[in-house]
Amino acid sequence: EEKLNYIMGKIRPFNDFPSKGVLFRDICPLMKDHKALCATIDLFEEYVKQTYPMVDFIVGLDARGFLFGPLLAQRLGVGFVLVRKKGKLPGPTESVSYTLEYGQAEVEVQADAVEKGQRVLLIDDLIATGGSLHAACELMKKCGAEVLGCLVLIELKGLKGVERQGSTPVFSLFQY
Ligand code: IMP
Repeated sequence: EEKLNYIMGKIRPFNDFPSKGVLFRDICPLMKDHKALCATIDLFEEYVKQTYPMVDFIVGLDARGFLFGPLLAQRLGVGFVLVRKKGKLPGPTESVSYTLEYGQAEVEVQADAVEKGQRVLLIDDLIATGGSLHAACELMKKCGAEVLGCLVLIELKGLKGVERQGSTPVFSLFQY
């Protein structure tokens, strides 16, 4: 597909970032390019409208899920919910902690962000080990939401992050 090829040309690989041995996929050139950014949202919109016409909210992961989530939510005519790193949100919150390669992390959402039974789709730029998305899905379920699935631009296939999501479907535009 033409749009996919165009977008792919705007994802820039960097060796040894943020640490030695890591090949980092940089989406800044994509964000900077109007045509690539529109095409990205077009493809997500098309998929969601076909697959999940009943979605109530798009839920974005801190931080790069915030780049795509609100644009997509606007196209779909729904609202956007922020899942943040611990300590950033005021008022009562729910949280889920998870294990990173080195240490622990925690994701948080405002306790009134979703109502019981509301249907959500999570979005992030990239799935690696799947730890971040898995924690965010658990968090939404803890709040009573029905998690329909996850959306990412990029899936790093070698790390088996999609398998980690169990029966929750993960849609990706690119697989490396
Ligand atoms: P996971 O929790 O191991 O799946 O890691 C996914 C998170 O790490 C996402 O929030 C990404 O933004 C970030 N991440 C990991 N590798 C990359 C990369 O190569 N490019 C951009 N973000 C990355």
